[in-house]
Amino acid sequence: MAGPPGVPGKGVSGWDRFSFRSTRGGTPGRLKKADSGIIPGMKSYETTTPPRSSIEPENVPQADFPTPFGDFRIFGFRDSVSGEEAVALVHGDIKDKTVLARVHSMCFTGDTLHSLRCDCGNQLNAAMEAIGSSEGGILIYQMQEGRGIGLLNKLRAYALQDEGLDTIDANHKLGFKSDERQYAFCAEIFRYFGVRGIRMLTNNPRKIEGMQKEGINVEERVPLVIEPSQHNSRYLKTKKDRMGHMI
Ligand SMILES: [Zn+2]
Repeated sequence: MAGPPGVPGKGVSGWDRFSFRSTRGGTPGRLKKADSGIIPGMKSYETTTPPRSSIEPENVPQADFPTPFGDFRIFGFRDSVSGEEAVALVHGDIKDKTVLARVHSMCFTGDTLHSLRCDCGNQLNAAMEAIGSSEGGILIYQMQEGRGIGLLNKLRAYALQDEGLDTIDANHKLGFKSDERQYAFCAEIFRYFGVRGIRMLTNNPRKIEGMQKEGINVEERVPLVIEPSQHNSRYLKTKKDRMGHMI
């Protein structure tokens, strides 16, 4: 669990983040192999693919976390490869089980400032309510604002949308893909908890594909039904028509 997939027992402390060189082990056989054919003084590289995401299991703060939607425990994670942070809210027992799960991407404007431009805040609340009333479930909150483009770029995209572009064309005009999110870190978090499979709360087929590509067993999709408002109906229509969202 500590190490990257397919490299049992190799925890993150065994990897040098910048050179991706093993800092552990150093058996003569390994050094000889790595040294062959390279100029003395050059860094040696492992032939094993370095992890794209890694968690230090001994460095995960956790605490009780009561909410209006139920009692959770909150866990904090830092990806030692990318530096990205995320939290997980866990309700009930999830180890070795197939559990209700939501991977929620940070939307500061929707989650915190109650923006009606999108449905993120409502989705977050609905997911917490569903997980908080389930036997066991987990919500991973990843800090990938604006589908991964960052807060200020999201506001730039909003300005373009005010001029008539939809959410995808606005992203493209700013030089981004329609969705820049990555799921390797989330997958590591699911593995940290020993979750066997997930019933994923999402309307987004790409999110399911993203998790499956990272080796997570998505057993079922559970829709999140949010009523559109006059402010977000165009945004939701774009997500449905151009991003394949099942809403
Ligand atoms: Zn949002």
